[in-house]
Amino acid sequence: MKRVYSASDIGAAGFIQGVLENEGIQALVKHGLLSGAAGELPPTECWPEVWVMEDEDETRAREIIEAVTASGPEDVTGWTCPGCGESLEAAFTQCWNCGRERN
Ligand SMILES: [Zn+2]
Repeated sequence: MKRVYSASDIGAAGFIQGVLENEGIQALVKHGLLSGAAGELPPTECWPEVWVMEDEDETRAREIIEAVTASGPEDVTGWTCPGCGESLEAAFTQCWNCGRERN
């Protein structure tokens, strides 16, 4: 298994997992908080993580994630979905909650 993504938001991690599975890649979400030692680790170590089951899927999974989360380097602020009000990270060009495109 290979870790291919970590997100501050469980919904975002689930979205990535779904995208990978749509591409035929077996993926699962691991919860950083459940891996132990929470509280002694920096917050990013407790973020939900997306793992691929097969090591050979790692490269393709990373390409897919990059395509899904692609945004300009100047775009570093998050946004709020006008459709459902969800707070989204800047990396997402589409709302993972309701599917609405950022505009
Ligand atoms: Zn939305």
